[in-house]
Amino acid sequence: MLNRQGRPTQAGEGAQEAHATFTGNRALQQIEPLIFEIGRYETTGVDIDKPGPFKSRLGKLARKDGIGLPGLSEPEAMRHYVRLSQKNYGIDTGLFPLGSCTMKHNARLNEKMARLPGFSDVHPLQPVSTVPGALELMQELARYLMVLTGMPAVSLSPKAGAHGELCGMMAIKAAIAAKGEGETRRTVLVPESAHGTNPATAALIGFVVKPVPAREDGTVAVEDVKALLGPDVAAIMLTNPNTCGIFEPQIVEIAAAMHEAGAYFYCDGANYNAIVGKAKPGDLGVDAMHINLHKTFSTPHGGGGPGSGPVVLSERLAPFAPVPFIHLEDGAPRLVENVADAPEGNAPFGRITAFHGQMGMYVRALTYMLSHGADGMKQASEDAVLNANYIRAGLQDLMSLPFPDHPSMHEALFDDEWLKGTGVTTLDFAKAMIDEGYHPMTVYFPLVVHGAMLVEPTESESKASLDLFIATLRDLAMATKGNDKSRFTGAPHHAPLRRLDETRAARQPVLKWVKPEPIAEAAE
Ligand SMILES: *Cc1c(COP(=O)(O)O)cnc(C)c1O
Repeated sequence: MLNRQGRPTQAGEGAQEAHATFTGNRALQQIEPLIFEIGRYETTGVDIDKPGPFKSRLGKLARKDGIGLPGLSEPEAMRHYVRLSQKNYGIDTGLFPLGSCTMKHNARLNEKMARLPGFSDVHPLQPVSTVPGALELMQELARYLMVLTGMPAVSLSPKAGAHGELCGMMAIKAAIAAKGEGETRRTVLVPESAHGTNPATAALIGFVVKPVPAREDGTVAVEDVKALLGPDVAAIMLTNPNTCGIFEPQIVEIAAAMHEAGAYFYCDGANYNAIVGKAKPGDLGVDAMHINLHKTFSTPHGGGGPGSGPVVLSERLAPFAPVPFIHLEDGAPRLVENVADAPEGNAPFGRITAFHGQMGMYVRALTYMLSHGADGMKQASEDAVLNANYIRAGLQDLMSLPFPDHPSMHEALFDDEWLKGTGVTTLDFAKAMIDEGYHPMTVYFPLVVHGAMLVEPTESESKASLDLFIATLRDLAMATKGNDKSRFTGAPHHAPLRRLDETRAARQPVLKWVKPEPIAEAAE
């Protein structure tokens, strides 16, 4: 069945529904086709004069057909992009409880500072002598990150957490090779509860990944790590607080065991928001840790802007940090852009990004730090933990906790034990949240918990906002026990598009638009 815009309607949509609309729109939530589907090739939003006579020098390279760009009038183009922007549920739209992602408010002050012309208009190819302010800002951000984490060095340039992992692990690989152990130390230990980027990072640069089993209580035990240690082990990649929302109680012992075995401790710092100002990774024995500026330091995520994942490094790894970096020579900052120009004693493993990384994110993150101050950043962490535990306390009588004996850090983890026998799955429950106007929490991660639901409210939410969220989830949770399951099985009911086949979308992505053959007019 096709709706008016020629878009196939989904199963369950249209005829079967009592109030299906002619357009496919749902009230003021409007369906938005691709620009190629609404554009017409003969239309253009601007008038361009026909060029005067000229002689083409392109020869055989000259284009023979039209370029095929869709043409729209200005109001059509405007509406297309505004409607698309409205489809982006974000932290500016509502509470975004996506666990492990730290979807906190992006303060407008950060945006204001990033738009100052002195920052927003600099170009990475400008002569270094014309951008001393930008370099100073980068140095200042680096200093704050080092002080907060208690680490002696930082590499600013990685552009995401996963990219930071790659940077840190490449530094570890270079350090191992420098000791002549590159051929033997090829194993990286990764707990089963880890984020998928950890084993992917290790495998990408040629390490063999060995899983560390998860304990019943959601933590990693030093004995389990020790049992896997040997001359073949290069490093462990351990998240702290971990993906179950628990501060690893044996982290110091695990770090010591790694070092004793001649290996390194890579800490996944994605959950750093829980401990800023409370615990320093440097004191815990960490050798390298990425910091997601778009999580902990309130710069926008994904569609809202590029990510940034600086990596702090220990004394042992600092010499291997990639270019570019700023080196102080007699107190004056010098930008080192090439491996060959590295100061004495440094052996950068190379470069992992063009230019210097995400300057706009550096400005935003430093603004967050300066506007909060040391006490404010510590309080933000305390409030993030408090909010997560408030949600946990508000739901734990209805939803089950896999690790009730450990206090939660910045996120509360539930499993699907409480859904047993209801016929409702974690996925159904998450989809029903969409109908209530909430982006779902992280589901089915971490993998060590059955039907996981990982809720991270962050410090941004007020008590009123948390109370409404808890009340909504309580209402849904109680409805799972009732007779009518349609609120879950068919959810989302109110979204413009109904339940999507996410697996198929991931496995068979349609990345190219092909102009459809014109459909012959049906004889009426
Ligand atoms: C977010 C996250 C990452 C990856 O960070 P990106 O910035 O998304 O690349 C890695 N590990 C954990 C635990 C995370 O939550």
